[in-house]
Amino acid sequence: MKRALNFNAGPAAMPAEVLQKAEKHWLNIADTGMAVMELSHRSKEYEQIHENAIQGLRKLLSIPSDYEVLFIQGGASLQFSMIPMNFLHENTSGNYVLTGSWSEKALKEAQKIGSTAPIASTKENSYRSIPQLSDINTTENAAYLHITSNNTIYGTQWHTYPTQLHIPLIADMSSDILSKQIDINQFGMIYAGAQKNLGPSGVTVVIIHKDLISQDNDHLPTMLQYKTYANNSSLYNTPPTLAIYLLSLVLEWAEEKGGLQAIEKMNENKAKYLYDAIDESDGFYLGHAEKSRRSMMNVTFNLADKEKEALFLQSASDAGFIGLNGHRSIGGCRASIYNAVPEDHVYKLAQFMKSFKRNS
Ligand code: PMP
Repeated sequence: MKRALNFNAGPAAMPAEVLQKAEKHWLNIADTGMAVMELSHRSKEYEQIHENAIQGLRKLLSIPSDYEVLFIQGGASLQFSMIPMNFLHENTSGNYVLTGSWSEKALKEAQKIGSTAPIASTKENSYRSIPQLSDINTTENAAYLHITSNNTIYGTQWHTYPTQLHIPLIADMSSDILSKQIDINQFGMIYAGAQKNLGPSGVTVVIIHKDLISQDNDHLPTMLQYKTYANNSSLYNTPPTLAIYLLSLVLEWAEEKGGLQAIEKMNENKAKYLYDAIDESDGFYLGHAEKSRRSMMNVTFNLADKEKEALFLQSASDAGFIGLNGHRSIGGCRASIYNAVPEDHVYKLAQFMKSFKRNS
């Protein structure tokens, strides 16, 4: 079976085994004679799929029983708005740590809703780093602290979280959820658009502490209240059934791979191939992120010589490597190496980088 060397940032590579399983059941799921997207979302067969996805997340991430797992549409971007709508009240402030374009966007949406404070930022050094935990001080009236756990565009990642502040910590984990073990208890809420480590686009996973789900915000549109999803198992209206089915298969696959401990190890190995290729290139390749803040998911780099950078990207594309251009906002090169990107594809890319350097 031909599989592309896919380093896209999202939508991104899916596990081949998941696609094969989906294909096997494509026309006939659970012996119904129907495809998943032909099932009623009120049928027992779909309800089982829906429950499998919730339980799969609960198991893999060891989600405690005082957290809800919700499926919402509108992408991670809608969460930028729902968070302040649901959690900001008069005289409180949404505190944001700015570590890249996505946290800037999250802040911008919150500014439309209520009062906010950008309490720390690494913009001054071109988002190469993450603030020191000791430099993060929340405002007195903070309702929550928002971070972006992995910065997809700049290639930086939080390796420890600011948990010392005694206010709910909310993390946009769109690009590193399921990439490593985390302690859910450190967070008030986690959210992630599915299209990187979880499956196809169309569903956003929200893991939220029950205490945060307000039961008295009826002034908000129904679909923008977390309680609508929590009180109805995310089945108040029609959920994105196909995306949730594929998510359930990705979760089964992750479990079969040995769970998050094993996946974390694989991700470390994969990232090491590329970071070694950068670090051992005598300055031919320049990593964007500070070493201690490097992302295990998005490896960002430039070539010292701009002309060679264009040639590198062209040659890589000619050699079949997909998606290596940096985000359109910053240029350069980026290899996204989410869970489903096979280790041998990453190894091939590292070899390609080395041979390109040798032949230049
Ligand atoms: N946050 C992060 C960290 C992202 O990487 C992205 C998408 N690349 C988004 C938010 C926006 O996600 P969506 O397209 O699902 O709204």
